[in-house]
Amino acid sequence: MSGKRRSVSIAIENLLEPAQHFPSGDDGVWRNHRLIWKQPASWAPQLTAWLTPGFRSDGLRRLKPGIFRDLGWDDSDWSRVLEKCLTADIAYHADKLAEAFEHAIVRTYHGCRTTDAGIYHREGLRTHDRALMTERLRNIVEAYPELQYVKARLPEAIAAIDSRLDIGRLYVVADDQSLLRHAAHYMIYGSEWISAVLGFHRHVLKKTGTPTLLQIDLPLATVDSATRNEFAVKILREWTRLACNQPDWSAPIDFTFTLRTNIPPAWIVGHSHPKELADPLERYSVYRVSTPECLQCQA
Ligand SMILES: [Zn+2]
Repeated sequence: MSGKRRSVSIAIENLLEPAQHFPSGDDGVWRNHRLIWKQPASWAPQLTAWLTPGFRSDGLRRLKPGIFRDLGWDDSDWSRVLEKCLTADIAYHADKLAEAFEHAIVRTYHGCRTTDAGIYHREGLRTHDRALMTERLRNIVEAYPELQYVKARLPEAIAAIDSRLDIGRLYVVADDQSLLRHAAHYMIYGSEWISAVLGFHRHVLKKTGTPTLLQIDLPLATVDSATRNEFAVKILREWTRLACNQPDWSAPIDFTFTLRTNIPPAWIVGHSHPKELADPLERYSVYRVSTPECLQCQA
């Protein structure tokens, strides 16, 4: 037996061993199960067990777990690598997995700026209400003397930002790594719409509150089946990458769930306050948070 074959055999055993605790091919492994993208231990063994009946008889030898493939984490070719060891195509398995995910829960994140994250724990998180946001914007403009010029021209400034895309919507992401690295402005300035209306005056938004990252356990039954399907494809690719390349890091996916209903308090399971963020609106310069605590943290 060559060294490569032996290492594949060991890697197959290592892949299957954590999965043996779960029934093979059973959608029930996802029922009320919470998965956390960047903690593969929370979903990869279940996915191995779930996929097992879909493997060709020599499927795992074709997959060659433990053998490095020179593919980026976001390369769609991971689907091709997985497909080689399955009896049906990736679209079939993604559809089936998306159906099974209907009863799963995924840890998601939402970035905001607040003086008290306790509000979210008590009241939940609401979709974008333009009337409410406009009132908040007026209050901000009233509060800062340096915004008198903006105050006089507020209707024009609001009209100039005519995006209505966010209205009635709420966005959460499956991975906080991408949010922290590339979209920290949600935490530095809070509302993207208010920040856009204020333009370069947005710096006043840094005078109150603190950057906050909310953790939300989102039941996947609340998202549409097309989004569940996209998520299923991502997780199948990541499973394949983990099985083959055995990295010690998880892929920093940029994956957004768009919700059209409020998030109840029970789904908000925690929050944290980053101390340093790269500001995408300031050429990714480092923004250091002077008070990385909210009222709830101080209580
Ligand atoms: Zn806090």
